[in-house]
Amino acid sequence: MPTPADPAPCDEDAQLYECPACGKRLCSAEKVTTCPGCHEMMQNISTPRPE
Ligand SMILES: [Zn+2]
Repeated sequence: MPTPADPAPCDEDAQLYECPACGKRLCSAEKVTTCPGCHEMMQNISTPRPE
């Protein structure tokens, strides 16, 4: 499975998280709390889906 360069468009069930420390972005359907790289707190930057 190829990894897209920009993971921003997540799956419908996934949320987009960003590490404010290193800028790493991560798509996950599960809650992500810490950056796998630097272990800083990840922020959920997903925009709410319009109803
Ligand atoms: Zn990080």
